Amino acid sequence: MTRFAGIDIGGTSIKYGVVVKGKVDWKKIIPTPKNEKSLNTDLKKIVQELIKNKAKGIGIGFPGYIEQSSKKFIGGPNLKFEVDVKKIMGELNYTNYRIDNDGNIGALAEYDHSYKGKVTNLIFLSFGTGIGGGIINNSKLVRGEGSAGELGHILISNDPNLEPCACGKIGCFESLASAKKWSGAVGELMKEEPLSELSLINKTEIKGSSLFSNNLSLTILQVVQQKEFINNISRGLISLYEIFDNQVFVIGGSFTDDSNQLIELVNERTNQLNKYRGRNFPDIYLAKLKSDAGLIGAALLLND
Ligand SMILES: [Zn+2]
Repeated sequence: MTRFAGIDIGGTSIKYGVVVKGKVDWKKIIPTPKNEKSLNTDLKKIVQELIKNKAKGIGIGFPGYIEQSSKKFIGGPNLKFEVDVKKIMGELNYTNYRIDNDGNIGALAEYDHSYKGKVTNLIFLSFGTGIGGGIINNSKLVRGEGSAGELGHILISNDPNLEPCACGKIGCFESLASAKKWSGAVGELMKEEPLSELSLINKTEIKGSSLFSNNLSLTILQVVQQKEFINNISRGLISLYEIFDNQVFVIGGSFTDDSNQLIELVNERTNQLNKYRGRNFPDIYLAKLKSDAGLIGAALLLND
């Protein structure tokens, strides 16, 4: 059995381990170092450990922009460091490795796990601090020069008063619709109406996805905010559909662990906005692989 290793580097933690036949054999989690030098040192140590474990190949996912020609991570909105993977692997005399962006590996993992052989065109979106994305077109991941699929940074608003996105632009999809924005909005709504059901349920810990809960009665103000998010998410999805003519959308992120009707609400809104006769909007599904998607997807890079 082929033992491929995956390393999933996130803004807060690094997960790494060995994947056999699409399943995690073993994994470890360490905090993401807070400076560039330590990140490079830790990554080298992890690669050494995986080589010792007889990994036949190593895939690495990074949270941001990738330069495939030089095999470099050139930083991202939430991890502004550079990692020269080619240099690290050269020092260790290791040649069978691949690198990619975390949204892309998420898309690969979901596609391989649930959709391969059934659909050929899929768009993956992950709602968290930002919005990660990955595009499967004709059963292949779309990479461009290395950074295609940064779907959180498509522009959906031209309001100059918006706070700039972590990437520096104003009006990005993620700056109007990420899970972090949902939580921020819930916090503001709690100040306005502290005795509402939404405020009481979020008293100890704010969960942005509660704004889309199916068992809360929301106030008028809260419904307005919910509709604004649903509208922004739906507009983002419709723009992507117009470009890629995909068959399905797969939506991931930690909010998928909670019970909520986000998908139903987005389905309803996209069908209101997208009216062209004979063209049905793609089905929207929740991601099935939870927190191991990055690790599994990184290892899958070796098959891709
Ligand atoms: Zn942006």
